[in-house]
Amino acid sequence: MPDRYAVVGHPVAHSRSPWIHACFARATGEDLEYLRLEAPLGGFERTLEVFRAAGGKGANVTLPFKEAACRYSTELSARARAAQAVNTLKFDAARVYGDNTDGAGLLRDLTVNLGRAVASQCVLLLGAGGAARGVLAPLLEAGPARLVIANRTLPKALALVADFQVAGRGVRPEALGYEALRGESFDLVINATSVGLTGAALAVPASVFRRQALAYDMVYGRDTPFLALARAAGAAAHDGLGMLVEQAAESFLLWRGVRPETAAVLAALRAH
Ligand code: NAP
Repeated sequence: MPDRYAVVGHPVAHSRSPWIHACFARATGEDLEYLRLEAPLGGFERTLEVFRAAGGKGANVTLPFKEAACRYSTELSARARAAQAVNTLKFDAARVYGDNTDGAGLLRDLTVNLGRAVASQCVLLLGAGGAARGVLAPLLEAGPARLVIANRTLPKALALVADFQVAGRGVRPEALGYEALRGESFDLVINATSVGLTGAALAVPASVFRRQALAYDMVYGRDTPFLALARAAGAAAHDGLGMLVEQAAESFLLWRGVRPETAAVLAALRAH
């Protein structure tokens, strides 16, 4: 029987992960099966227990269970501990290894696929939820000149900044409310809020985008008001599809010991 993996979430019907991992398996010759598991709210642990008892080797975890997956892990990678959120689980008898590949996926998409350095750049991270927390340590480790976190609920941005004061190579993150962004400008603006899913706009002034800036929305598969604002301000604008594929490749590497090529999978998803 092939090794079994799954994406666990609520809802999970929309997830592209089974398709992406099936592509990776074909391309690398790995014999595996990848399922969708919708866990009821409050039923995450039970769903995983059943899956493990049936021979499950690992899982991707999506909303709203990333914090629950962190608590479920018996061992955490350094990046999962920093994020306090887990999107990849690996099962080995009683051991549950929890990792977070979102930050590595974002960095890989920015630096390899889009050819943009983070080192020495002024970076604005919008949002202070699980996605922002998950990418913050890798972003700081990439050595930006400045990193500002702005969030609608300022206390959440302040709490995030407090948790990450020692994570970077020198630079300490700062927290601002959206209204304080007037007069500030950045080379790289990353939208880690979920607002694009609703089609609503963020209260971000167009002046945050420097000439040659790159705007990145973690939401994928749609043109968001944030990306439209960035383009109108002359910035390059990209959605989060590349991050989705790259974080999946990092999970695949953890499970199978081989990192799949991502370019063809990303191109096929875009064409879709
Ligand atoms: P979350 O924990 O629920 O956080 C949501 C964030 O969005 C918070 O900062 C929240 O601000 C902000 N927000 C929501 N509605 C807003 C509005 N109307 N105006 C201003 N801010 C608003 O969600 P998450 O886990 O961080 O995920 C965020 C997004 O990233 C999701 O859309 C998710 O799909 C995407 N994501 C993509 C990838 C990928 O691979 N591309 C990976 C991970 C996540 P408050 O704190 O003020 O509520």
